[in-house]
Amino acid sequence: MIEFSNRVNAVEPAAPFVITNLVSELQEEGEDIIDLSVGQPDFETPEEILEATHEALDAGHTTYTPSDGIPKLRRAAAEYLNERHGLDYAPENIIATPGGKQALFETVMAIVDPGDEVIVFDPVWSSYEPMVKLAGGEAVHVDLAPYDFKLEPAIDDLAAAITDDTALIMLNSPVNPSGMVFSHAAFEGVRDLAVDHDLPVISDEIYKELIFEKDQPSLAALDGMFDRTITINGVSKTYSMTGYRLGFMAAPTDHTTQAGKVHSHSVSCASNFVQHAAAEALGNADTDAIAGEMKETFRRRSETLVDLFAERGVDIPEPESAFYAMIPIESDDDMQWCKDAVREAGVGLVPGQAFGTPGYVRASVVDTEDQIREAVDRLDAEGFI
Ligand code: PMP
Repeated sequence: MIEFSNRVNAVEPAAPFVITNLVSELQEEGEDIIDLSVGQPDFETPEEILEATHEALDAGHTTYTPSDGIPKLRRAAAEYLNERHGLDYAPENIIATPGGKQALFETVMAIVDPGDEVIVFDPVWSSYEPMVKLAGGEAVHVDLAPYDFKLEPAIDDLAAAITDDTALIMLNSPVNPSGMVFSHAAFEGVRDLAVDHDLPVISDEIYKELIFEKDQPSLAALDGMFDRTITINGVSKTYSMTGYRLGFMAAPTDHTTQAGKVHSHSVSCASNFVQHAAAEALGNADTDAIAGEMKETFRRRSETLVDLFAERGVDIPEPESAFYAMIPIESDDDMQWCKDAVREAGVGLVPGQAFGTPGYVRASVVDTEDQIREAVDRLDAEGFI
């Protein structure tokens, strides 16, 4: 018998995968499912990045690399953040990780001790709290649902959530799962509290290139924040490269030194040829064109989704970015609702409980407008709306 740790017993498998797995099973049985449950763009990886990947393989870049990443990638990532997001990082501030998710995990492991509290905002991406629990900490939730998922009206709630045990704030904007983009004032509110209470903040900006219209600062660019911010980003969403598994953290070197220990003792390094492809994406690809096409498409589809639900009397807080929307539902059990929706209506959606907001389901607009219409029709016909 294997006796498992309290740490691992404290967490559940990632809930979005419960639905995604059910969708795959039924699809394999030949069912026609419109899958709006997955968190990735339905776009091909751009040709020039694929070519760079082949070239890197042909050049034999198949060995280990320096743990923190190849110099070319760390340079490209720092320049990318500085030029496009108004930041001020040097290559030494970057660790390239297998996905931004790993950068988040290493950061939480480097900062959170057992008994520490970590503040998250609901709806929260489904892996934040499990990461905190795996580090032995406890997530403290600030609920944005009463404020239509906006952060600015919740700054007083954030202030009230901070205690002597608070070790970290985890901020994500643009937000998975609501598609919201937090305002300048909200960012400044977080900044003021972080500075007052001397707290570090993770700013997960992985969807920053997919903002429809609004302007969002990068947290580390605000006065007083460089030394206490860990910026998370990556190539998964911006360049439609989720399967490459390549992200990065950008942070002061005292943090990268500590997180780098978790990194080198767990993954050693990100995949070599993948790092070369990511350097091409961040350094040379036409980011405006690539991300621009995606975000226009996602914007149109999001509007369609919102309109289709509005016609049926359901108000979706209007997404401002990326490819997510949170749909209010009338059910006490959103997991069961989602399982039923897959089986009965043939539509894959993720239960809000995965994000700390039961009573909603998350839709990813990662299929054509026609398919989105069809999905809404099916949900309507089967009594889900
Ligand atoms: N942060 C958020 C908010 C995300 O939604 C995701 C991906 N779903 C990630 C980080 C990590 O992405 P990746 O590991 O593919 O870089």
